[in-house]
Formats: sequence, structure tokens, C-alpha cells
Amino acid sequence: MKIGLIDIDSKIPNLALMKISAYYKLLKNEVTLTSPLFADQFDRCFASKIFDYTNMPLLPIWTQLGGSGSKEDNEKKLDPHTENLMPDYSLYNCDYSIGFTSRGCNRKCPFCIVPKKEGRWTSVADICQFWDGQDRIMLLDNSMNTNNHWFEHIMNQLISKKIKVDFSQGLDIRYLNDKQAYLLSKVRLWKRIHFSWDSTKIEKQVRKGIEILHRHNVRYIMFYVLIGFNSTPEDDLYRVETLRGLGVDPFVMPYDKFDDYQRRFARWVNHKAIFKSVKWKDYGRSV
Ligand code: SF4
Repeated sequence: MKIGLIDIDSKIPNLALMKISAYYKLLKNEVTLTSPLFADQFDRCFASKIFDYTNMPLLPIWTQLGGSGSKEDNEKKLDPHTENLMPDYSLYNCDYSIGFTSRGCNRKCPFCIVPKKEGRWTSVADICQFWDGQDRIMLLDNSMNTNNHWFEHIMNQLISKKIKVDFSQGLDIRYLNDKQAYLLSKVRLWKRIHFSWDSTKIEKQVRKGIEILHRHNVRYIMFYVLIGFNSTPEDDLYRVETLRGLGVDPFVMPYDKFDDYQRRFARWVNHKAIFKSVKWKDYGRSV
């Protein structure tokens, strides 16, 4: 059978498609990453759409669609057998491993679909289920440090195998403690560790978390700062200036990318040279 896989909008190799590929290759099918234009040349087609703001291409009616960005099927899951297969990294010539060690989240941020889609936090897989000896791992866990025991378990695996890690969805500063920070100081980092500061209500925890990280000399960090969702421009400025004062880089995420103020504020903060040299009161007036 000829299987066509369509990656509509992923920015990184699509994990679900790599697992579907592994499943059909095990059954000796011919699997190809293809485009919607060629979908009718295959016996079966699977498509994945990650983002809700990207365009939906025309697909044959028999295409099986999934992914968080597909309106009708954003809660569709792989069957457990396929979910547990080693991803077929050759589909994208991907030279690092990607996967989840946990799913879900115990918080309920109103702008986030994770708790609705995945439920409460739960551990799901050891790294050996998706790590194939590569020297880098991209973890997709939404809140990997929710559970101390699990965090220690995974971190000890990464440290002992000397794997460079990217916590791509960030860690939760509110759960951070000395043991976690110690482990972060020992692991090899592929990219900066990022945390989020979405509301001034958690200022105490943010300050405490940064103090713990600095105590363990973990300084390769940054904070995402969501603006435009239940926050005022004064709150936004307060959060980025507080982070600056604590010696940590903020990175602004506008909730509404088309809002003029949010776009300007994000441009000011995220352009590091400008953020260092120009005050918001001057930048905000000049553009
Ligand atoms: S902590 Fe992160 S993953 Fe959890 S609900 Fe909030 S935004 Fe979503």
C-alpha cells in the first residue's frame, strides 16, 4: 500500500507523522512525505495541522486529519500501539530525537488548550521510547517539572547519557526547587531553558525561582512574557523591567499578533540591542 503523509504547518519534524510512518513501514508499506497536491496518488493519506491560524489546504475527503490546529479533529489521538513506537526520524532526515515523557498539565490557564486536550499531568514514556542514540533530545512535555520524582528520573537519564536537551515547551517556575535547579546545573543544555511569567499574580514565585536558579548557577535561561491577555500595558512593562532587574532576558509573546500596541511592545523587548539601549517611553513614542 502507498501511504502519503502531509505535514501542513509544523515548524519541527512532526512527531505524530513520524510514528504513523514507523507503523506503516513495519507493515512493509511504502511511506512518503508529500504535499496536498499529490494526495490522490496514495492509497491512504494522513495529514497533521498544528496551528489554528494557518490556512487549511484542500485535501481529499478520505484523508485522516489530526493535530491541535485542525478544527474538527484536534482531540484525535494515535492508537496506543502507534503512540509507543520509535518515531521514524528518517522521514525528515532528523538527527535529533523528539518526544514526550509526560502529557497534560495541572494548571488551567484560560488561553491554553493543553488541560482540555490532555487532562491532568501524567508521565507517559521513558526517553528510551523515542531516543535512538542521538546526542540531542527535544522534549515536548508541557510541564515536565510538575512531578519531582519524574523530573529527577528523566534528568538523571539525560545526565548519565550526556544528552543535550531542549525543554522546548519550557518548565514551570512555580514548581522549581533546589533539587530541580541542581539537576539543571548538571545537564547539558542544547538551548536556553525558558519559563513563563504570564501574570503579575505569580511575581513571588518568579522571584523565588530565579533566586534558586542563580544559587545553582543556572543562568542560561529566559522568560516568556505573555501580553494582551488580562494584562495592562503597565503590568507588561513591570514584568519585563523586573526581569531585566533580576538579570534575566524577557521574550514577549503577544496574545493578539495584530494588535498595534502588542506588536510594538514585543518588537521593543525582543530586539535585544534596542531593549538594552532605549527606554519604552522613548521607543513607544518613536514608532
Ligand atoms: S501552565 Fe502551561 S501548559 Fe499548563 S495550562 Fe498553563 S500554559 Fe498550558
